[in-house]
Amino acid sequence: MKSAKPCHKCSRNAEYRLVDKEYCKKCYSGLVEQKIRHNLRGYSIKKDSRLLVPDKASRYIVEKVINLPVKIVSKGKADYKIVAWTMDDENESLIKEFFENKKPVRQDKKTVKLFYPLSKKEMVQYFSIKKVAYKAERTEINKILDEFEEKYPGTKASLLASSESLTR
Ligand SMILES: [Zn+2]
Repeated sequence: MKSAKPCHKCSRNAEYRLVDKEYCKKCYSGLVEQKIRHNLRGYSIKKDSRLLVPDKASRYIVEKVINLPVKIVSKGKADYKIVAWTMDDENESLIKEFFENKKPVRQDKKTVKLFYPLSKKEMVQYFSIKKVAYKAERTEINKILDEFEEKYPGTKASLLASSESLTR
């Protein structure tokens, strides 16, 4: 997305949108990494923890945002399993649980939902900036939520927040 607006954080040209604000390439990727780093703090990953990271895109981020010396493995036993789970995946599972009247699955502390604070669209943009291969299938529910997000920026994050307040 190109626009003539300046970045919300600096004076460069804004090219990417994150929730309701527009940023330049540099600030955008910095914010994405910051959100992921912040999300990771919710797990108690320690020095020398073994992390199972099955895909390259996730590995790229993990190596970038974790400042601890950790052991990254692509198979076998590990202390934490990293999954490329986005806000869209979370919202989709919430909606399904709601319509199917299922009890929400309890948060498993050993499975790290790496892209939890971000949408697939935001991750696609991030990885295109970084030139790292990343594929995210958009389901029907994702598409509907994307339309809402377009009309009412912040919809997805609000949905997530309201479900968190219900399950905690
Ligand atoms: Zn900027």
